[in-house]
Amino acid sequence: MTISGECFCGDITYEVSDNLRDARSCHCSRCRKAFSSQASAYALVDPEKFKWKTGEDLLVSYVGEHGFGLQFCGKCGSTLCGIYKGIVHGVTLGCVNGDPDIEIGHHIFVGSKAAWEVLPEGLTMYDEGLPATD
Ligand SMILES: [Zn+2]
Ligand SMILES: [Zn+2]
Repeated sequence: MTISGECFCGDITYEVSDNLRDARSCHCSRCRKAFSSQASAYALVDPEKFKWKTGEDLLVSYVGEHGFGLQFCGKCGSTLCGIYKGIVHGVTLGCVNGDPDIEIGHHIFVGSKAAWEVLPEGLTMYDEGLPATD
């Protein structure tokens, strides 16, 4: 499927010619600040299938430790995507248009969620990261 996304002001738009993968929500204190929200909402993309359509020149990047960073609209401030070593790694679900036909599969770092966040029942949650799979 083709998925499109855009920032709040609409100047930056992108398209993903593929399904999104591995949607997750991280409740750690760092993601709360990075996403200005109770948690992140993020899904992975194949970088080859992702392309900016408009407004790429408005993108502002913040790169943290380990080469992982985020890209924002320099005009309206929406967080659009995550980058790893300069390459798009995933998209923020909040900026995806319509129904991307994926659901958040797991909630991680729930052990460090904000005191004010009330989680609904029935979520797949982990106090820390995803358990290692052998
Ligand atoms: Zn914008
Ligand atoms: Zn996190």
